[in-house]
Amino acid sequence: MTRESTAPNGRYLLKGATLPNGDGADILIEGGRIVSTGTGAADAATTVIDAAGLVALPGLVDLHTHLREPGFEQSETVLTGTRAAAAGGFTAVFAMANTLPVSDTAGVVEQVQALGQAAGYATVRPIGAVTVGLAGELLSEIGAMAQSRAAVRVFSDDGKCVHDSLLMRRALEYVKTFDGVVAQHSQDPRLTENAQMNEGALSSELGLKGWPAVAEESIIARDVLLAEHVGARLHICHLSTAGSVDVVRWAKARGIQVTAEATPHHLLLTEELIRSYDARYKVNPPLRRDEDVQALRAGVADGTIDIIATDHAPHPRESKECEWDAAAFGMVGLESALPVVQTALVDTGLLDWADVARVLSNQPARIGRLTGHSHSFENGAAANITLVDPAARSVFELDRLHGKSTNTPYEGVTLSGSVRWTFHQGFPTLRDGVLADTAETATAAREFARSQEVNA
Ligand SMILES: [Zn+2]
Repeated sequence: MTRESTAPNGRYLLKGATLPNGDGADILIEGGRIVSTGTGAADAATTVIDAAGLVALPGLVDLHTHLREPGFEQSETVLTGTRAAAAGGFTAVFAMANTLPVSDTAGVVEQVQALGQAAGYATVRPIGAVTVGLAGELLSEIGAMAQSRAAVRVFSDDGKCVHDSLLMRRALEYVKTFDGVVAQHSQDPRLTENAQMNEGALSSELGLKGWPAVAEESIIARDVLLAEHVGARLHICHLSTAGSVDVVRWAKARGIQVTAEATPHHLLLTEELIRSYDARYKVNPPLRRDEDVQALRAGVADGTIDIIATDHAPHPRESKECEWDAAAFGMVGLESALPVVQTALVDTGLLDWADVARVLSNQPARIGRLTGHSHSFENGAAANITLVDPAARSVFELDRLHGKSTNTPYEGVTLSGSVRWTFHQGFPTLRDGVLADTAETATAAREFARSQEVNA
């Protein structure tokens, strides 16, 4: 390995890439930044990468990742989760707060952020819990987390719904003071007690307790009205029903500051898979009907749904290889996200690559108030770039996963598209499909941070 490939000042020329708008370009990276896009000649010190046939996207940003550390390191760590992120084309992830201890204090969010910096594979932005211990009873130290070194802007009890209306109102009032956002996991707890799958004809047939669509839609309806009343920003995690898309569409037409996300799995998979009683398909919110999948796709295509976020939820084997009722909810998603999005939305003509850049990078960065990440390949932008081979088509295999857990629903499924290169702050964390090693990424991250201090 040459010195150039490990140094943050290394020059890289991505030759013949296709930009999201369809234009061809040679992208020159130097010192962690994009210094030109056009057609450029490389000098001898430049590492030239043949990007012919590859689509260049701004580095993907995931607003909804469970990294599990601290507390659940048997499922994932910040290091293994960000390795999976880099392999999946992500250069920034927002880490959900349902760790142990819960990320409800400045100390814990700063710890998570520091673990991300030490790993170097992706920028890790911690999400703060809305309530102490995710217990839904007392507001957490929202202000202290916002003012901490981690500068938290997204707050969520994800995994649990902030069900108390007064607490939700207070949380919205609080985050409004510093332009933060509350990301709600919309699930009425009483309507979903012991629920196991989407409520309908199939849940009756399979003898599994149903999870009605209204349990999600009623919380979204309440929360958009609260957001309107307070004048604060609200983000709705993982929409899963056609009715939820309708409520968000109505709220946006009314001018309410609401944004919404869908997961890749809710855009591709339906409840029919549960006939197998295979717990890989057990997820919260549950897989729904084909009508819901079609409504979610239409919502992404028309902008009602702003972003696609993975809800990467690693679990150890024993939590999934058991009876349906006993199994954990959740699927890993960082390394399948781009192929699933291409398969479900690009190949079907619903999104073009500029749309993919919007829903997987620009908009999630904007909602999370993440600076220095999202860009339109303008000169001077931090070189967070993902190169995708859209012509690739392959069977998804477990042995390609880089995270600690393998609870994916896509094993053996043929998907389009393949992430070939990921550049994080100008450093290649994924090189033609091969992950960079840990020491290199950590060194590159430190060097980039130092160069930022000099430039500031
Ligand atoms: Zn959730």
